[in-house]
Amino acid sequence: MTDLPAAAAPANSIAPLGKRERLNAVKGMNDILPPDSARWEWFEAHVRDVMGAYAYRNIRTPIVEQTALFVKGTGESTDIVEKEMYSFVDRLNGEQLTLRPENTPGVVRAAIEHNLTYDGGKRLFYMGPMFRHERPQRGRYRQFYQLGAEALGFAGPEVDAELMLMVAQLFERVGLNNVRVELNSLGVLAERLQHRAALVDYFGRHFDALDADSQRRLQTNPLRILDTKNPALQELVQGAPQLLSFLGETSLKHFDQVKSLLDACGVAWSVNPRLVRGLDYYSHTVFEFITDELGAQGTLCGGGRYDGLFETLGAKPTPAVGWGMGIERVLELIKVQGEALVLPVPHAYAVIPQESALALALPVLQALRQAGVSVQMHAAADAGLGSMKSQFKKADASGAAFALVFGPDELAQGCVTVKSLRDGSGAQVTRTLTDVAQWASTLQSPT
Ligand code: ATP
Ligand code: MG
Repeated sequence: MTDLPAAAAPANSIAPLGKRERLNAVKGMNDILPPDSARWEWFEAHVRDVMGAYAYRNIRTPIVEQTALFVKGTGESTDIVEKEMYSFVDRLNGEQLTLRPENTPGVVRAAIEHNLTYDGGKRLFYMGPMFRHERPQRGRYRQFYQLGAEALGFAGPEVDAELMLMVAQLFERVGLNNVRVELNSLGVLAERLQHRAALVDYFGRHFDALDADSQRRLQTNPLRILDTKNPALQELVQGAPQLLSFLGETSLKHFDQVKSLLDACGVAWSVNPRLVRGLDYYSHTVFEFITDELGAQGTLCGGGRYDGLFETLGAKPTPAVGWGMGIERVLELIKVQGEALVLPVPHAYAVIPQESALALALPVLQALRQAGVSVQMHAAADAGLGSMKSQFKKADASGAAFALVFGPDELAQGCVTVKSLRDGSGAQVTRTLTDVAQWASTLQSPT
């Protein structure tokens, strides 16, 4: 033990920041801390399970891509490209780069680059951070996490259905209730063009009633007017020509099959003829999973078919369908719906009365962990290990079921005392160091 308080001598020679200069996380970008991070890990474990159950495989693409990928692949007249991207010039070579605002273009870029669909379709999923310069509020952040699934090289409605069934099953496994599914069909390009002409005509006749954004979109992407969040425009939007009434037989058949497959699996849906999604590349089926329990940020998951994207990115036409899910919103809803957070705790807490015991105790702890037992080693904030009393207090607070006491007497005999901390008995047994690993292997996983 040293008598010097830790703060008395500077630990390095860098000039320290003043109190007012202390650095915080960037606005809209959050730290995910324990114990909340346990909810993330729990959710991610379910995700891996469900993805495996549908034979979707993990893909990890870079967080930074060429800006042009999103301009082309997300669409120039989308909110994302118009105002939400974190773009910068690489100082070293002048390249225009962007932090990914979504990951479908990245996945499709990778699929083209590595010719992933050369021998048939590929089913892929990803999880990771996305970046959009938005006004931060509940459920809307500048760095947020998306889970996404993409089925590349499949044209049939059964895969549209599969993707939605997967979301339904994931939500069921994590205990979510009251999430509704809204569907629409955007048909094919020729049908959208006819509809577009009808929209331009309709909104053109009501031009003065539109807000500035929508007036601009009338030129660039009139379909997006249907997507407006401006309450003053809702009535006008309600009266607009519906894309569904422009669909031909083939498109209607595709859509009907999706609906009946969902019916066959007991997934309830409703058609929302105004659902167009914000992104330019969709065709045929589009869908959202929505809750009313999170206020304005109620869309948990959105997706659809994007048969045109491969071609847009310079590859041969390849049908594809996928979705993206906001993980923060899903976790928030899980919390709102009262799912208790199961805190991770170690099996055991190692109480080590004397520093001289460390060299004997640590190899035993190594062996226990190797055998699958999680052990939190006592360590004090100050130099030295602290009194037995304070060690047992920490052992209690750790949530561990057992304390392992490496006292000098025990160690002299090649033993450790195992004390029960949770069952109220305070029972303790002394085990040999070899025996303790055998005992440990009978323990259940702590979480
Ligand atoms: P919104 O209409 O809420 O802006 P969006 O259409 O921009 O959503 P997508 O691009 O489809 O959203 O992304 C898929 C999902 O990612 C959304 O349904 C939502 O759950 C989540 N998401 C999108 N933007 C954010 C954000 N800024 N913060 C947190 N989650 C987000
Ligand atoms: Mg958005």
